[in-house]
Amino acid sequence: MTSTATIRGVWLAGHEVESAEGRTFTVIDPATGLPIAEVADAGAPDARAAIDAAHAAAPAWAATSPRERARILRRAFDIVTARTEEFAALITAEMGKPLAESRGEVAYGAAYLEWYAEEAIRIGGRVTKAPAGNGQILVNYEPVGLCYAVTPWNFPLAMITRKVGPALAAGNTMIVKPAEATPLTALLMAQVFGEAGLPDGVLSVLPCANPTAVSDAVFADPGLRKVTFTGSTAVGRKLLAQASDGVLRASMELGGNAPFLVFEDADLDSALEGAMAAKMRNGGQACTAANRFLVHNDVRLEFVERLTERIAALQVGAGVDHNVVVGPLITERQRSMVHALVTEAVTDGAVLRTGGVPLPGDGFFYAPTVLDRVPAHSRIVSEEIFGPVAAIRGFDTEQEAITAANATEYGLAAYFYTSDFSRVQRVSAALRAGMVGVNRGVISDVAAPFGGINASGLGSEGGAEGIHEYLNVKYMALPNG
Ligand code: NAD
Repeated sequence: MTSTATIRGVWLAGHEVESAEGRTFTVIDPATGLPIAEVADAGAPDARAAIDAAHAAAPAWAATSPRERARILRRAFDIVTARTEEFAALITAEMGKPLAESRGEVAYGAAYLEWYAEEAIRIGGRVTKAPAGNGQILVNYEPVGLCYAVTPWNFPLAMITRKVGPALAAGNTMIVKPAEATPLTALLMAQVFGEAGLPDGVLSVLPCANPTAVSDAVFADPGLRKVTFTGSTAVGRKLLAQASDGVLRASMELGGNAPFLVFEDADLDSALEGAMAAKMRNGGQACTAANRFLVHNDVRLEFVERLTERIAALQVGAGVDHNVVVGPLITERQRSMVHALVTEAVTDGAVLRTGGVPLPGDGFFYAPTVLDRVPAHSRIVSEEIFGPVAAIRGFDTEQEAITAANATEYGLAAYFYTSDFSRVQRVSAALRAGMVGVNRGVISDVAAPFGGINASGLGSEGGAEGIHEYLNVKYMALPNG
C-alpha cells in the first residue's frame, strides 16, 4: 500500500500495509463535512498479525538497555517537534481544533516522549533488610508484556504518546487502536517511531471503522497483559469487563464532569481567564473541561455578565483560519447531543445568555453558549457536555458548593478560585476528584499524574507514576549476604 496523503495503510511490523481484508474507510474534516482521506480498515486478521509481530519482537525489546529505549523515545520527540507544522495541520484537518491549539497539542504530546525518555533510565528498585534480620528483600520492576491501547479523537496525538511513551520506556510492546475519526495523526506518529529506530513489531497502529473486530481479536490473545483506554465511561466499562476475563492490568481514563467553583473572595479577572481556558479549550471537547460552573451568588451576576461578553465574542470557524479560536464539534451526532442538552436545560428553566444554536452552513459548528440559573436536576448538570457550553448556577455557602461539586458519579478534574488560603486547603481536601486546579484553569502537565477516581477511571498517566502502570513488581527473597 502507498503512503500518500490521502490513502493510508495500517502500521504493522514496522511498515504501512493494506488491511488483510482490503477494506478502507473515510476520514472527514469536521469543518467542512467533506472526506480528506481513505484509511485501511483493520480487522481481526490484522490484529492477529500485530499480535504475532509483537510477540516476535518482545524478548529482544525487553532486553534492550534502558538507555537505548530512552534514545529511541528522545529521537521520536525530536522528530515530532521538528515536524510540528505537519502534525498540527493533520490534527486540525481530522479533528478540527484551531491550528494554534493543534501546535499546543503537538508540544504537549511530544513532551510525553521526552519525559518518558528521561524516566526510562530511572525506573529503579529497592533493597531492604527483612525486619527479622534473616534475609534481604529485593524489589525489581519488569515490563508487563503486550499492551493494548484504545484512544479517543479529542487529542489524537497526546492521548497516544502518553500511553506509548511509558509503555515503550518500560520495555513493553503495544498495539494501538486509534479513534475512527482521527487515524491520520496516529499513523504519522507510528511512522515517526519507525524513523526513530523502534524495532519492527514493537508498536502496531490499527485504525478501523468498527472497533470491536480488532478489539475482540486482541483481547482473545492469551499473551495480552494490559489494556489502557482513554474514552467514555460506557466503553471503559465494557473494556474492563473484557479485561477481567484475562485478569489484565487496566488503566482507564474515562469521562469527567468537572465542577468549576468561584468563591466570593476570588480574583474575578483571574477566575474568568481560568474559566475561558477550562471551558473553551478544544471547543469544550476535553475530559477535563469545566462542565458545571458554581458561582457564589455575591459575584454571580458580574461573573455571568463578563463571561457572556467574552464567550459571545469568540470567533468560531475552520481551524485553519488563524483568527479562529473555536473550531467545529467532531461529528453531527456530537453536535446534536450538545444541542439536546442545551434545549433541555432551557426547558428546565435555565436562562440562555448567548448561543444555544447549531451554526448554519457546512461543518459541525455550534455557537459558544452561556446558560445561567441552570437547575440542579437538568441533564446538562449530570452529563458530560463535550461542547462550547458554560452551564452556571449560584450557591450561598462553601458547604453547599462542595456538596454540589461532589454530586456526580465522576471524579476527574475540579477547579476552584479563592484568595483564602485556609479555604484552599479545606476545599482541595473536600473535592472528590483525581485532579484539582487551584486558581488555575489548565492542569495538564506531563510531569503530573493525570487520572480520575470513581467513574472517571483507574490509574495515572504522566509523572513518575505513569510508568508504573506498565511495570510488574517482582520481589526476590534473598539470604543475608
Ligand atoms: P468513546 O468511548 O466513544 O471512544 C473512545 C475509543 O474507544 C475510540 O477509539 C473508539 O473507537 C473505541 N471504542 C468504542 N467502542 C468500543 C468497543 N466496544 N470496543 C473497543 N473500543 C471501542 O469516546 P470518544 O467519544 O472518542 O471520546 C470522548 C470521551 O473520552 C469522553 O467521555 C471524554 O471524557 C473521554 N476522555 C477522557 C480522557 C481522560 O483522560 N480521562 C481524555 C480524553 C477523553
